[in-house]
Amino acid sequence: MENGSGNVLKPMDSEQLREYGHRMVDFIADYYKTIETFPVLSQVQPGYLHNLLPDSAPDQPETVEQVLDGNGGGVIQGSASEAILVVMIGAREKVLRRVGKNALGKLVVYSSDQTHSALQKACQIAGIHPENCRVLKADSSTNYALRPELLQEAVSKDIEAGLIPFFLCGNVGTTSSTAVDPLAALGNIAKRNEIWFHVDAAYAGSACICPEYRQYIDGVETADSFNMNAHKWFLTNFDCSLLWVKDQYVLTEALSTNPEFLKNKASQANLVVDYKDWQIPLGRRFRSLKLWMVLRLYGAETLKSYIRNHIKLAKDLEQLVSQDPNFEVVTPRIFSLVCFRILPVDNDEKECNDRNRNLLDAVNSSGKLFLSHTALSGKIVLRCAIGAPLTEERHVKETWKVIQEEASRLLGK
Ligand code: PLP
Repeated sequence: MENGSGNVLKPMDSEQLREYGHRMVDFIADYYKTIETFPVLSQVQPGYLHNLLPDSAPDQPETVEQVLDGNGGGVIQGSASEAILVVMIGAREKVLRRVGKNALGKLVVYSSDQTHSALQKACQIAGIHPENCRVLKADSSTNYALRPELLQEAVSKDIEAGLIPFFLCGNVGTTSSTAVDPLAALGNIAKRNEIWFHVDAAYAGSACICPEYRQYIDGVETADSFNMNAHKWFLTNFDCSLLWVKDQYVLTEALSTNPEFLKNKASQANLVVDYKDWQIPLGRRFRSLKLWMVLRLYGAETLKSYIRNHIKLAKDLEQLVSQDPNFEVVTPRIFSLVCFRILPVDNDEKECNDRNRNLLDAVNSSGKLFLSHTALSGKIVLRCAIGAPLTEERHVKETWKVIQEEASRLLGK
């Protein structure tokens, strides 16, 4: 896999994996053997790690030797669902302090109908009444992006009815079709109405490391919080979900606890960031280490070429689909997801949906590839997401061949 600048993504081959695996096990075994020589309580000062970190990821890959000499850090949640929940709890606490704690039943949440069900789950946990969740319709006229006028209308109506708009979830890369909401326009409405604005970029946030895709987060400066999943399209194993908040105190005011058994000098003197107050669990996995390994081992330039290569492969597939008269690309591809379907015969949309469901089953039972599906404006749509490290052009060609063969069978051609 190569981009114009010559950066090639080379995953470890099996022999390298064997070698580094052995060395890692030796490292752990040596640690066990000498464990009594280590202090029980860490002897380092708060902040020591921060001082050892460079300001940014290296542009070029580094070797395992270089990385094992290094250190890592970060503010990471387990999943986008947890990220949405904790910011909603923070936003809920903030608004209830302003309007009074008995107003919970008046709080209203806004999003497009393309928003991930993680938002609905957050509302269920946070005690937001289902009838106070405004799920605003997005359609093909905006490529499934939320229209700001629709949001403004809903907010005004709710205020008139004595309700309290408090949380808006915008999307950069929806699950169904990778739609991108107009962040700046939505953010301005949120700001004018004292609504918390969260941006869910769980999948597509990774693409924004490339300057040419950064436009998709234009307006993100209006957001109160932003989340992307490094475990989706950033070569990091599950789980690793990155959450930024503009005002950390909104989270800590809602989630802080201070039991006696956790008190220690560094925390009491505010010398350390207590991430337990930014999340649901008390304990934290060392997720930053694996992200750090990814940044160091690949380097920013290789990660960019990795993303660009997937998008190029998706473009190739989109072109193959659009050249076939039996198929249509249902909504224009933006990142590396292609949404397509077999076209209806004689405008029979119901039969067309059944046929696309059958195509999905046939393709997936071939065992050669796995497609997922969604519904867009009532149309059953097949989704091919390109995002695996080992995917090459030949796999995409083979994918299309299998789809075409199964479709011909279904169409009796
Ligand atoms: N948001 C979007 C846009 C997603 O695509 C997904 C998962 O597919 C999620 C949220 C939920 O992610 P997680 O499993 O990290 O909670």
